[in-house]
Amino acid sequence: MIRQKVAMVQEKIRLACVRAQRQPREITLIAVTKGRSIEEVQEVTQAGVTDIGENKIQEARQHYAQCHHLMRLRWHMIGHLQTNKVDDCVKMFDLIHSVDSVHLASEIDKEASKIQKIQEVLIQVNISAEETKYGFAPQAVGEALKEIEMLKNVSVNGLMAIAPMVDTPQKVRPYFRDLRQLRDSLSQKSVHKLSILSMGMSGDFEAAILEGATMVRLGRALFEG
Ligand SMILES: *Cc1c(COP(=O)(O)O)cnc(C)c1O
Repeated sequence: MIRQKVAMVQEKIRLACVRAQRQPREITLIAVTKGRSIEEVQEVTQAGVTDIGENKIQEARQHYAQCHHLMRLRWHMIGHLQTNKVDDCVKMFDLIHSVDSVHLASEIDKEASKIQKIQEVLIQVNISAEETKYGFAPQAVGEALKEIEMLKNVSVNGLMAIAPMVDTPQKVRPYFRDLRQLRDSLSQKSVHKLSILSMGMSGDFEAAILEGATMVRLGRALFEG
């Protein structure tokens, strides 16, 4: 079942790439495993997904303990992160998508230096200016980036955003476009490449690919329906 859904999603990614004149290998498919059983996580990796997205540290610990030895997986932290959980986070995750304050970035830096790791991160941007969402306001990202780039054990590799709920995928494209344009303008001023754009979920990943996403984070499309 999950295997078929993975194949279907990969085909949709391929078709979106054809429309966008991009290569499917430019897109990393992240399976978002919140609320999923160990068996489901294992099944999705057996179907060929190599990247796992976690929202909560508690649940991530369980998935990680049961699955990380099975094959070479990349682990992504995509949920809001409290500073007191950062130590476990830097031990588990290859990429932290949800850096939403300079304070959090400096805690990550501190914990990463203890284990001599350069922690790769993305800056989360609140592109829709919703109060309920985490992330920097777009106009605040430049300043924050300057400070975060000074941290020795943190490497900023791009931006992440969660699009607002809209009734058609078409309406969501301007938000994704804004994120890409923000990335493009920051890239010119930054020492880092900011090559990653983590945007697009089950309802809107094709629109995100058309606007330049390099990582899509899918839960329902892989595990439900
Ligand atoms: C849950 C979640 C997703 C996946 O959402 P689906 O709609 O199930 O694809 C992606 N990103 C974040 C940050 C999430 O919390």
